Amino acid sequence: MNSLKSIAVNLAIPLLVATVFALLTYYQNKIPSFLLGITPYIFYILSAIVLFISWHFNRNRFLFVVFPLVFIYMGFEFLSPPKATLLFKYMTLVFPAHLLLFLFLSERGLLSVWGYLKIAFIAFEVGIVFWFIQNPSEAILDIFKIKIFAFNAYPLSDISLVLGLFILFVIVVLVMFNHFLMYNTAFLVILISFYMTLYFVRVDYAIELGFIAITLIILVLLIREAYRLAFYDELTSLPGRRALIEDMAKLGRKYTLAMCDIDHFKKFNDTYGHDTGDEVLKMVASKLANVSGGGKAYRYGGEEFTLLFPSKDLDESYIHADTLRENIAKTPFSVRNKKSAKKIFINISVGIVKNSKNDKDPFATMKRADNALYKAKKAGRNTVIKA
Ligand code: GH3
Ligand code: MG
Ligand code: MG
Repeated sequence: MNSLKSIAVNLAIPLLVATVFALLTYYQNKIPSFLLGITPYIFYILSAIVLFISWHFNRNRFLFVVFPLVFIYMGFEFLSPPKATLLFKYMTLVFPAHLLLFLFLSERGLLSVWGYLKIAFIAFEVGIVFWFIQNPSEAILDIFKIKIFAFNAYPLSDISLVLGLFILFVIVVLVMFNHFLMYNTAFLVILISFYMTLYFVRVDYAIELGFIAITLIILVLLIREAYRLAFYDELTSLPGRRALIEDMAKLGRKYTLAMCDIDHFKKFNDTYGHDTGDEVLKMVASKLANVSGGGKAYRYGGEEFTLLFPSKDLDESYIHADTLRENIAKTPFSVRNKKSAKKIFINISVGIVKNSKNDKDPFATMKRADNALYKAKKAGRNTVIKA
């Protein structure tokens, strides 16, 4: 289960964007009218930016979320009022379902079989919606008349509320348990914003401001995704070496640094295979990520990790590093093969140092930590050596 703190951190930006735009809609009489007048263009430009970036970065999940918004907006703009009303009704069902589907579908290149299938699917969706706008069917329209709740959420029908609540529930579960928190939290806020926008559809500029908010949430998500790609290690989700170098440049006058290395990992790989080795790396990384004492863990490369303890003394951070070592050594890792499951234990060796006036930069400190690590290996491994 995800911690409340990380859920809150991930929810913060999308919620902030959504709230700001809700307030802008509410207090629109305080906004200069020319600014309100250009909101459609702002929406189109933002959509174009998102479409371009997501296509460029091969993150086409966003493409498939923004494209329907543009389609809906243009429909509201250019269709006759009765047809726009039909579009509205259909979209209260189709868009949320579409959102959930594309949250689940994995990211594949647009120019792959999967990509073509997605394009075909979206063309099919547009086609079918358009067909039912031209040829409304009584059977479908009756669905929108079904009464389920005692209250009235007009213009939203009860059936779209039921579907919306169901999808809300699924995404909330994902937010709580799935590790793609950044996506799930953003999609949660997008879903709520979409329903709010449609509920207030008769308020001036509600659609424009609501859709701008959703597009902005996606733009922020894209930027955060680019940041994650640059600074985080794909396998272990720990910050990588680039993040370490950035953070080392920001260290204060006093800090400690530890280099950690898994013991006999080559032999482990040779015995159990590279994939099992990867699983071990993930397990060790998750332990390191939860280091106590204000430390922060990085994947330095391969099976080597770095711990930074800003403004800590050597003796204090030594205790945290040693607790971590002991914790890893005590945690059984189960290796399964076709016949049996076997529990094995992994050790790490650690060299830890405090920065000194003689180090010309943090890299010199790191070099000393590396020497201490070498001594830990010499001393028989599964140990922390401070220097
Ligand atoms: P020592 O106790 O002296 O550290 O022995 P070692 O075998 O761990 O040391 P060495 O540095 O020689 O080997 C590191 C091994 O880590 C080599 C490589 O196969 C493995 N390794 C590095 N990166 C990865 C990875 O991403 N996944 C897997 N499965 N193995 C990796
Ligand atoms: Mg090594
Ligand atoms: Mg090793």
